[in-house]
Amino acid sequence: MIEVTNIEDWGLGLKKNLVIAGPCSAETPEQITQIANEMNDSFVPNIFRAGIWKPRTRPGNFEGIGKEGLSWMEIVREKLNIPITVEVANAKHVEEALAAGIEILWIGARTTVNPFSVQEICDSLKGVDIPVMVKNPINPDLALWKGALERLNKAGITKLAAIHRGFSSSIKTKYRNTPEWGYAVRLKEELPDLPIICDPSHIGGKRDLIHEVSQQAYNLGLDGLMVETHHDPDNAWSDAKQQVTPARLKEIINSLVLRESITKRPELMNELERLRESVDTIDAQILDLLAQRFEQIEAIGDYKRQNNLTVFQQDRWETVTNNRVEMGKGKNMSESFMRAFLDAIHTESLKKQESRIKLADKVSV
Ligand code: PEP
Ligand code: MN
Repeated sequence: MIEVTNIEDWGLGLKKNLVIAGPCSAETPEQITQIANEMNDSFVPNIFRAGIWKPRTRPGNFEGIGKEGLSWMEIVREKLNIPITVEVANAKHVEEALAAGIEILWIGARTTVNPFSVQEICDSLKGVDIPVMVKNPINPDLALWKGALERLNKAGITKLAAIHRGFSSSIKTKYRNTPEWGYAVRLKEELPDLPIICDPSHIGGKRDLIHEVSQQAYNLGLDGLMVETHHDPDNAWSDAKQQVTPARLKEIINSLVLRESITKRPELMNELERLRESVDTIDAQILDLLAQRFEQIEAIGDYKRQNNLTVFQQDRWETVTNNRVEMGKGKNMSESFMRAFLDAIHTESLKKQESRIKLADKVSV
């Protein structure tokens, strides 16, 4: 179990549906000043973010301004008077961020994957009462995400939040990191008190997707957004394509529809129950059809055995996959969903055919 302190009790004047905004990277004092000024004129977020140390995929790119950038956060404090969060990836970062009075830390996706690094951060935070937000690991692994939160909890940190920034995938989609919302939803189910903040900038990878992804996050009941914001996004030193101006951020936030939790609107429960019942019926029909499909597969397995054929026939499976993926696309189902779905069916079918053969062999012995 993870002990979580309510975000209202972090002592930073925060509540759910919060917005974290600021540049991917702190670049210069002028840049920070300009962003803070434009935020003042349009939209002041609840928390200011800035990357000080940047984990870059390949060397030679801008690796963050380092410690010096921490002192520029005073500009933000003076102009906006809001808490500041920076990414930390090791004990030295933690030490420097704490010394600069940073109010909230976050652990980046490339660090969450590494329990050694997470533990190093936890060790350097022993006895320190500071909120920490944990981005999901780059690979879709809920245990690793929870594991990082558990380590922090063990180190005494209870002011915790998760940041959903999408996952790496070998399948090309319109996203930079596919959202795979199911992981965020499962985390919410398992840890209902933990705020989950969506990072539409890193999910989308392009600014045109920020609105859509943010709305999806709110539809699922996530608790806030982290949006990369820059006064001159196209000329940002990192992640230029996925940043927006403070003025655009204001437009995005104002046009999002906030959904209420059903527990606050009991009068809507009846209709929801009716809709859910029809989903239950459809699920039962899907399962009946699947059971019929597996029976048919078993019959094929028997036939193959009687005629001494191999269980798995690669070319047939390829034809089936391609055909079903196309059928799925025609019905508005994504290729990644169709492939995962077919894969699960195929694995189960193979198991059934194999156990059928083993059974028959036993009988004939
Ligand atoms: C970032 O927030 O700029 C960042 C590096 O994100 P992530 O860890 O999600 O890649
Ligand atoms: Mn970034």
